[in-house]
Amino acid sequence: MELKAAFPRPDWLKMIESILTEPGRLGDYYHAFHNYSLGNQALAVEQLLMRDIEVSPISSFQSWKLKGRRVKKGEKAIGLWMPFTPRAKPGEVKGSDRKVDPSQLTPTVDGEKRGPSRMAFMMKNNWFAFSQTEVDPHAETPAVEPMKAEMSWDAQAAMQKLGITEVPFAMVGGNTQGWALPTAKQIALNPMAQLPHKTRFHELAHCLLHGDETVEMVDGSDLKKSIKEAEAESVAFLCCSALNLPGLAEARGYVQSWLGHSTTDREAYKKSAGRIFSTADKILKAGLNVNAEVAHG
Ligand SMILES: [Zn+2]
Repeated sequence: MELKAAFPRPDWLKMIESILTEPGRLGDYYHAFHNYSLGNQALAVEQLLMRDIEVSPISSFQSWKLKGRRVKKGEKAIGLWMPFTPRAKPGEVKGSDRKVDPSQLTPTVDGEKRGPSRMAFMMKNNWFAFSQTEVDPHAETPAVEPMKAEMSWDAQAAMQKLGITEVPFAMVGGNTQGWALPTAKQIALNPMAQLPHKTRFHELAHCLLHGDETVEMVDGSDLKKSIKEAEAESVAFLCCSALNLPGLAEARGYVQSWLGHSTTDREAYKKSAGRIFSTADKILKAGLNVNAEVAHG
């Protein structure tokens, strides 16, 4: 079924562009936001920077309360893109007409159809950064300082979780860095790949996004010009940014070429922007190890 967009959706294209301009930014803050989807992380960082608020972990009003903190007077909430169950129309089954408690929502990002068919998304202004809060002297629980998460990304765990297998790279010649066979959920990486992480993210993205491709999608160090390559390379760019891995400069040039030239390219790319965020998020979450969070300093 089709859902009418009742709320303006975030401009994911703009989010990608701002990360392209400052690729280090996402990685600098990823540890503070890893519980949220990548799209929502980008939204949160963007709003905090725009309002000149120190970027720091975010929680809902209620969650801060449970952590012994309170939102400072006059602080305005930041908005995230959240799923909700729309009100049932008269005559429809009762039970779907429930009010959504924003603190119970699972942070996610739009761009793919999952969950119940009536799932819709809206911007919900319900979050505050740590720097917008203060210790609540009347709180029942003593306030705790937020912890800085130590994170690593495990390629093998991610592959297994995503149901994608790596097969030996058997391709002679050329500058082929890797390939993906999406229908078989297989990828292969050149053992001599210049940027193995970036290539892996790129090939995983092909498997997740282009499941109808029955032939190998072969990637050289210079990518072919097609929207599917732009999608996969953008996913690789976002993953490398979040994890502070090398390859940003290389991915960036290709992605920018889609945004800078013709209006047609830009329009095609714009349609993909939400999918790009949700796919990068899926890949990151599948391999993310968040070790015992360590205190600042
Ligand atoms: Zn490719």
